[in-house]
Amino acid sequence: MNVILLGPPGVGKGTAAKRMVEVYGVPQISTGDLLREAVKNKTDLGLKAKKYMDAGELVPDDLVIGLLKERVAKQDCRKGFILDGFPRTIPQAESLDASGIRIDVVVNLHADESVIIERLSGRRDCPKCGAIYHVKNKPPKKAGICDACQSELITRDDQKEEVIQNRLQVYRKQTEPLIRYYEKKGIQKTINAVQTIEKVFEDIQKAIGQA
Ligand code: AMP
Repeated sequence: MNVILLGPPGVGKGTAAKRMVEVYGVPQISTGDLLREAVKNKTDLGLKAKKYMDAGELVPDDLVIGLLKERVAKQDCRKGFILDGFPRTIPQAESLDASGIRIDVVVNLHADESVIIERLSGRRDCPKCGAIYHVKNKPPKKAGICDACQSELITRDDQKEEVIQNRLQVYRKQTEPLIRYYEKKGIQKTINAVQTIEKVFEDIQKAIGQA
């Protein structure tokens, strides 16, 4: 089961992917997480990527494609994987095709922009264990503190208001054309992301034929 989760930033790809990991036991591959790890470790790639990420721009294709291919080649991806946040441009999708990495289904999570803005600006992340919260929709038990590991939650730089606007614009211009790209291949399924997490997951299961 090789699945791509497509959709604008903040639509809930990460949350859906985590649920899929629990149920199907295949890894979630988030290029955003891989890049943040590289930034944290101050690798060459991380140093190059940081300025784009902080501004809400996409990291150049060649950097991200290499990172992704390296990750997909690992043992734990043999039974399948969930791509979360990749591909984000047509050249990235073409490079997947060219490298013979098979994709079974592309699940396109859809939500109106006003919903996205509300979701993104209220999002809080745990820098230690990666847990995701929302001040309104999924607050931690104690404000500002991770339920799982008690670390102090953060607002990622790329989730600040002006950066959010830019990320949405980048999404419309560079990533949205992928919906059509996969539609043409007959493997794209659109799902309404403005539902409970459980309902979204149910729809994903139907879309990938495992309901
Ligand atoms: P995410 O956590 O998926 O929203 O990613 C955070 C940031 O990492 C994005 O705003 C981009 O700067 C960068 N990024 C993640 N995935 C990609 C990708 N596939 N292509 C280019 N940039 C990416």
